[in-house]
Amino acid sequence: MDGLPDDEVCIGDRYRIGAALFEVTQPRVTCYRVGLRMGEPQMAALLVAHHRPGFYLRVIEEGEVEAGQAIIKVSTGPEAMTVEEIDRVLHLPGHTREQVERALRIPALSPGWQSSMQALLDQAEGGASSDSAGLSTAATAPPPAWPGFRPLTVTHIQPESRSVFSLHLAAADGSALPGQFLTVKVRPKGGVPPLIRSYSLSGEPGTGAYRISVKVEPHGAANNKLRAHIRVGDQLEAAAPRGTFYLTAGDNPVLLLSAGVGVTPVLAMLHALAREHSTRQVWWLHGARDGTEHPFAQESRELIATLPNARSTVYYSRPAADDRLGVDYAEGGRLSAEPIRRLGLPTDADAYLCGPASFMDSLTAALVADGLDASRVHTEIFGAGAALTPGIKGAATAPAPHRPAGPSTTHPTPSNPPPGATSSSAAQNPPQTSSSTCEPRRR
Ligand SMILES: Cc1cc2nc3c(=O)[nH]c(=O)nc-3n(C[C@H](O)[C@H](O)[C@H](O)COP(=O)(O)OP(=O)(O)OC[C@H]3O[C@@H](n4cnc5c(N)ncnc54)[C@H](O)[C@@H]3O)c2cc1C
Repeated sequence: MDGLPDDEVCIGDRYRIGAALFEVTQPRVTCYRVGLRMGEPQMAALLVAHHRPGFYLRVIEEGEVEAGQAIIKVSTGPEAMTVEEIDRVLHLPGHTREQVERALRIPALSPGWQSSMQALLDQAEGGASSDSAGLSTAATAPPPAWPGFRPLTVTHIQPESRSVFSLHLAAADGSALPGQFLTVKVRPKGGVPPLIRSYSLSGEPGTGAYRISVKVEPHGAANNKLRAHIRVGDQLEAAAPRGTFYLTAGDNPVLLLSAGVGVTPVLAMLHALAREHSTRQVWWLHGARDGTEHPFAQESRELIATLPNARSTVYYSRPAADDRLGVDYAEGGRLSAEPIRRLGLPTDADAYLCGPASFMDSLTAALVADGLDASRVHTEIFGAGAALTPGIKGAATAPAPHRPAGPSTTHPTPSNPPPGATSSSAAQNPPQTSSSTCEPRRR
């Protein structure tokens, strides 16, 4: 696209392109992956620092769109607040209350950004420093432990189920928050560009090693390569742990819900709770196909046994003949909305969900319908593989990044987007949960 600079385009502006009509909903959330992809770890920070976030459009009327068509502005957003201005309000000190109130009057502003603006307003009213209050979670997440990639040595390889195996990676100084993920480069042979994949840390944080657990599926490019070729003593290039899907402190109950390999980040949370001998109420709810596809069964049982207020319900959707009801699993069938309702889960809990998109959608809706505040439902999205290489897929060598002119300014790190201000919140009417992916989520 040519034109449409961020200091002219306003939230709520409507544009016609071909037969389709679009509306501007929020500034783009800059993903750390842009830096990994371009070989410039500072790229995401540069984009934020130079106030050129770009923006998301939602489709108001579907229609054919072709290259070469004019982009025709048909109306201006109600407060004429530019993308650049609202981005500054959230990311930089010095905004006024009037600016925040204007932003909140724009119906087109995505639910995530509405909540971040509301947080700014609430904290200003509560007398707290309001400078970047909407960034609370992001600002308190520590910056990545190292820039770009660095080699980590594989110290142990462990099968966990028929399709999942774990890699232990030495990282003496390595720290992470329970629930965060590592991003690694998997190098196919023959000068082909590396495959970049993220894996949630599944082990106990802060033990001098990282553990990632990889699910191998037919045709999965990176995971099959890892299983076939990686050996103890090999090195894997890894970017520092990242992510805003992590267990937060508190006394309230914790719901850990997972399906399949989605168990990995919530298992790290369970480790963290066990390590601190937490007295919080903990609900471990996991869905697997059967005993052969139930990684960490023993490990999770042992952790739960150390917690005084933990309980567990494991669901097997297709139990095998030798799977023992009441021992290996508690119920047949899927972990889904209906059995969740029967459990009578506490409504003051923080819920952490990871699994297939349909699992997270239906369980989020069920939890919210049962009274859990949507802001307490946290989800981690694995997928969006195709979007990992936006714009440069297939390029043998990535072009050198173009640095914007002018000096860099100080700014919050964009690697952990503000709560609610994730790409997924650009979707039209999802319950407003916090989701930690930086890829737009397709619905
Ligand atoms: C924050 C985050 C955390 C994650 N944590 C984990 C984790 O803990 N463990 C984990 O395993 N993954 C995790 N993932 C997903 C991981 O990054 C990979 O995307 C995933 O494991 C698949 O990688 P792959 O290269 O093997 O598959 P890809 O080659 O990327 O393929 C993706 C899927 O498409 C299917 N596919 C590909 N080609 C074909 C074909 N021709 N026909 C049919 N099907 C095909 C594959 O079977 C696979 O299921 C995470 C992702 C994110 C974003």
